[in-house]
Amino acid sequence: MLNDTIAAVSTPRGKGGVALLRVSGADALKIGEEVFRPKSGRALSEYPSRAAVYGSIYAADANGASVEIDDGVATVYRAPASFTGEDTVEICCHGGLLLTETVLTALLAAGARHAEAGEFTRRAFLNGKMGLSSAEALGDLLEAKSREQILLAHGGMGGRTEAKSRALYEELRHILASIYVCIDYPDEDLADMTPEEILGALERCAASLDALISTYRTGHAVAEGIRTVICGRPNVGKSSLYNRIVGRDAAIVTDVEGTTRDVLTETAPLGRVTLLLCDTAGLHATEDAVERIGITRARAELARAELVLALFDASSEPTEEDLSLCRELEAGEASVIAVLNKCDLAGELPSAYRERFPNTVCLSAATGEGMDALTETVERLFIDGSLDPRSDAVLSNARQHAAALKAGRALAAAVEALRAGYPVDVCCSDVELAMEALAELDGRAISEDLVSEIFSHFCVGK
Ligand code: GDP
Repeated sequence: MLNDTIAAVSTPRGKGGVALLRVSGADALKIGEEVFRPKSGRALSEYPSRAAVYGSIYAADANGASVEIDDGVATVYRAPASFTGEDTVEICCHGGLLLTETVLTALLAAGARHAEAGEFTRRAFLNGKMGLSSAEALGDLLEAKSREQILLAHGGMGGRTEAKSRALYEELRHILASIYVCIDYPDEDLADMTPEEILGALERCAASLDALISTYRTGHAVAEGIRTVICGRPNVGKSSLYNRIVGRDAAIVTDVEGTTRDVLTETAPLGRVTLLLCDTAGLHATEDAVERIGITRARAELARAELVLALFDASSEPTEEDLSLCRELEAGEASVIAVLNKCDLAGELPSAYRERFPNTVCLSAATGEGMDALTETVERLFIDGSLDPRSDAVLSNARQHAAALKAGRALAAAVEALRAGYPVDVCCSDVELAMEALAELDGRAISEDLVSEIFSHFCVGK
């Protein structure tokens, strides 16, 4: 229900200096007034929007009588100039755990319903205060674990992805209108675009959409993370590199072969990108049943990897196991970086790896030397340096990417038909399909279920 009034604690549960409670909906002011009384003696609703008002907070005692329990500050926002687009009251009280819950209980007793996870943001979206990509970016900002994720998410909240998809949508609508005029009045000179101009305009839209689609490689690498596997024969330094990247001793490092048996996984930033990093069992022939299971799992991870950090020993010539891994990786789809580890022990580097892999980095997982080169190589492979995450439209999740791809495929089909010389009306349904997909991308045309799914990932109070 959109027109009831919801309340929740927006700060994290726990003891703190202050806590913030939010009330949003048609009765927000009425409910806020029951709980919060300005020291001035005036009613909260008499204050202008965005004024911060000092006052007393009231809640029911054991007998149901209203008693003063705290001092605090309330801010009134009137629809539509609020985060949700509805009348909103925000109350700051002292951040005691029981105190905050008591204030929330008072708001609920006064007629508010406890907000569900993400319900404030969902209302902001449904009330047209933000597009879906912006709301998703806000969710990403709350989850951000690296500086680059913060920049990307904050940039995304500005609505640039919606703006881009809406501009394309409007362009296609204009083209479609011209095509319909051609169809409906074939003998009259009413259309404002010739078939050649229609093709040219569609080609420009398709190119612009392709450029947007290509931003996903960067957005995915920063926001979602690159599925990355560290592999190599035993003792080559996989666990040492894993620990170096995650920044703590998460994996056991020994010179005993077969120490890592299961797949260890962690999310770790590396420069501007995020790695969903797996340390795997050393790949070699073994009779040990447990190690063999580990190796099977390592191979399964390799098959799903987007990036493989293939470790080799810089201080010795390749073994047959190393060469077999090289052959396997050359045949695979993932981006591969050959990491020549233990450079602190190496004299002349083995040449076999540079010949096979265009991306080769020499480093020491033990000392950290050469880690910058690894970071730069990963960034070069996955980040488009010409994109500014703070201002450019960047697709940052699989939903946006899927919608943009759908639109891109439809436009490509329309362009192909016109280039093949078919009459313009042949491409109408493809252009309509592309417009539908763009409306999905900016959230104007997505199902209620999907909206619920997206906002359920937010925390309560946001
Ligand atoms: P894994 O079996 O491939 O996971 O290898 P580990 O990370 O467990 O390392 C095996 C051994 O090599 C350990 O004794 C590490 O201390 C050592 N080692 C790992 N990386 C380096 C390095 O860059 N330089 C040197 N000198 N030793 C290393």
